[in-house]
Amino acid sequence: MLIGAHVSTAGGLVEAHRRGVERGCEAIQIWGQSPRQWRPGRWRPDDIAAFRDRMADGPIKSVVIHAIYLINCASTDRDIRRKSAGSLVHALRTGEAIGADGVVVHPGSAKGEPNDEALPRVAELLKHALDESDRCPLLLENTAGAGDTIGRSFEELAQLIKLCGRRKRVRVCLDSCHLLASGFDIRTADKLAAVVDRLLELVGDRRVSCLHLNDSQTALGSNRDRHAPPGDGELGPRGCAAFLSEPRFEDLPVVFEGPGVEGKAPAKADVDRMKQLRRNGLRARRRRARK
Ligand SMILES: [Zn+2]
Ligand SMILES: [Zn+2]
Repeated sequence: MLIGAHVSTAGGLVEAHRRGVERGCEAIQIWGQSPRQWRPGRWRPDDIAAFRDRMADGPIKSVVIHAIYLINCASTDRDIRRKSAGSLVHALRTGEAIGADGVVVHPGSAKGEPNDEALPRVAELLKHALDESDRCPLLLENTAGAGDTIGRSFEELAQLIKLCGRRKRVRVCLDSCHLLASGFDIRTADKLAAVVDRLLELVGDRRVSCLHLNDSQTALGSNRDRHAPPGDGELGPRGCAAFLSEPRFEDLPVVFEGPGVEGKAPAKADVDRMKQLRRNGLRARRRRARK
């Protein structure tokens, strides 16, 4: 497992890398552009080249880009759809340029319409973005289930993968806070294992490519997306340890998105805590195996 955090790209990619190293990250997540603006940001070619050099022989082994929240692939508004497509294509091309393991996107919100009617429209936009880019995987993130958001159930994620023609580049990013908020009890290793069984049964074995380990300020099934530092929320130390030691997550990058213990951005203390929780989880697993 590659443990890390979301880091700021203020000052460029090399600065983001430096922040990751400073925090002891083995994986990082970054925004591909300013999260509150449609206007695509571009990194300088020399910054990209220097970033790739550092990635090639540094402690950070994985980088993913988070697509901006303004994107709504389920929208019926032509202008929003055009901008969403542009931003997603830009993120995928940027991902390719920097050697990212994927672009994480929230599938969207159907705004009152039944989700099964919106799903083909989401898939249409995702396919367009894949056609307009070459290699970078697209990671559909499960959502907390607020309002009419799409992707709160594994059935919806599976349906989207199917509607995208089961292309290899369509993958899944699993967020622990969103799982709990959308009603999946993953607070013990056994309960998490049952949820993962169900997920893999529906989306397939190799689709899950990235994890977000966020604890949740709000309760099971609250449908609210309020992150807490690892171990400080409703998942608690036990739930976070289970997530960080689930055998089928073993080779994946896992990032904490914040807010962290020291304020807004994830800090070294959060990453250290994740590593400790993983050790606790592995120890508990070995104990269970001996019984
Ligand atoms: Zn997330
Ligand atoms: Zn979230």
